[in-house]
Amino acid sequence: MDFLLHEWLGTGELLTRERYAEHDRETVDDVLDLSEALATRWFAPHNRAADLNEPRMVDGRVEMIPEVGEALRAFGESDLLAATMDAGVGGLQLPRVVATACFAWFQAANIGTSAYAMLTRGNANLLLAHGTPGQVDTWVRPMVAGRFLGTMCLSEPDAGSSLADITTRAEPRPDGTHRLFGTKMWISGGDHELSENIVHLVLARVPGGPPGVKGLSLFLVPKHLLRPDGGVGERNDVVLAGLNHKMGYRGTTNAVLNFGEGAHTPGGEPGAVGELVGPLHGGLSCMFHMMNEARIGVGSGAAALGYTAYLKSLEYARTRLQGRPFADRDPSAPPVPIIRHPDVRRMLLTQKSWVEGAMALVLYCARLVDERETAPDPEARREAATLLDILTPVAKSWPSQWCTEANALAIQVHGGYGYTRDYDVEQHYRDNRLNPIHEGTHGIQGLDLLGRRVRAGG
Ligand SMILES: Cc1cc2nc3c(=O)[nH]c(=O)nc-3n(C[C@H](O)[C@H](O)[C@H](O)COP(=O)(O)OP(=O)(O)OC[C@H]3O[C@@H](n4cnc5c(N)ncnc54)[C@H](O)[C@@H]3O)c2cc1C
Repeated sequence: MDFLLHEWLGTGELLTRERYAEHDRETVDDVLDLSEALATRWFAPHNRAADLNEPRMVDGRVEMIPEVGEALRAFGESDLLAATMDAGVGGLQLPRVVATACFAWFQAANIGTSAYAMLTRGNANLLLAHGTPGQVDTWVRPMVAGRFLGTMCLSEPDAGSSLADITTRAEPRPDGTHRLFGTKMWISGGDHELSENIVHLVLARVPGGPPGVKGLSLFLVPKHLLRPDGGVGERNDVVLAGLNHKMGYRGTTNAVLNFGEGAHTPGGEPGAVGELVGPLHGGLSCMFHMMNEARIGVGSGAAALGYTAYLKSLEYARTRLQGRPFADRDPSAPPVPIIRHPDVRRMLLTQKSWVEGAMALVLYCARLVDERETAPDPEARREAATLLDILTPVAKSWPSQWCTEANALAIQVHGGYGYTRDYDVEQHYRDNRLNPIHEGTHGIQGLDLLGRRVRAGG
């Protein structure tokens, strides 16, 4: 990490820019150390417990092990959620490349618990970019303070890859709000009791708009409405219809949510109350703010899972004694650590090259975000924006594919033990297997890369 940040990606040069004037090498190292310490203390210890005790729906509410909430509270208190945000909203104004490296510690320690933080950060960043000052005050500040958590609600039972087929509808009301009706599927962090409120960002269709993605608008739909004094008030009509039972990432709840089915009628009127975010019928491009960030976040999660399993298999290979060197088969000689066998070294070095490459790619993309935002030369900003746009689907997909393969090799290095739940590597593999699927499947990233991004701007 030190090598990537300081030797390769020139974080020192970044820190000379006005936006980062509060920081130097020492503060960067401190915040990385803090991330390691928090991830080790609060996130890693319940990684297995969250996998073995997946969240359950009991009387319409979600029950899960308490350690998830405790870890998120510790994360909230650290201010790391707002690592890259402006000081004006309580942010630390750290470079994105540093924040991404910090967050990788949490993803490696516990991908399921860290997902709530990742979604909340992306949700808040979208509102900072496209929300009104009122929306920032009302919704971003409590998220930054760790009181509210956020989600992204795109998928529906019959509209996954094809967002053009979204049917959730939003009906305008005279007071400027909208009422939403429909079902969203696969919503990560979609319901839980981990926070005072949940801020859903929902793609929906306002009647009369054009068909396809050009008719999608973005709405902020809270689980609880707020009272005039800002306190958490009555239930909005967003209802947990069920939880999905997943192969991995089990600590992250994954919900089917019904909007406006009539379980609650805020103000005596049907429909879930939503506020428009950004322009009417301009919802997808606003949502892309969060999706692009989440795509790099998925890549970094995949790299982190690959990395941690690689380190565990390296440690195992150094201590597991088995067999003798090929050229010296004296059965009376003591067995050697398996790292001495060329095939095991092949599996370790293959993992190492994939996971280090993936982490480098993800941090390089994060560095491009910093360049796009703060490069002194406008031409350099434009160039960074173009390169980032093209690399985003690659940063999502390549680590998802090859770091899952790396996890398979980590299991292989452990032999039969790797196939049991006595070691972590089988869970890392199951967790990582999600990454080529969510946030746009592997195939959809390919279509995005060649069909849209490479051709954009001529
Ligand atoms: C654990 C988990 C968490 C998730 N979290 C969220 C979330 O928080 N918010 C949210 O909105 N969604 C979320 N999703 C939904 C996720 O983004 C979708 O599952 C994904 O986009 C694929 O949609 P689908 O499952 O309907 O598959 P489908 O769209 O039915 O795709 C099935 C297969 O067909 C392929 N395919 C589909 N269309 C095409 C095409 N045009 N060309 C080529 N191949 C195609 C796909 O690549 C895939 O291999 C989550 C999903 C999971 C499993």
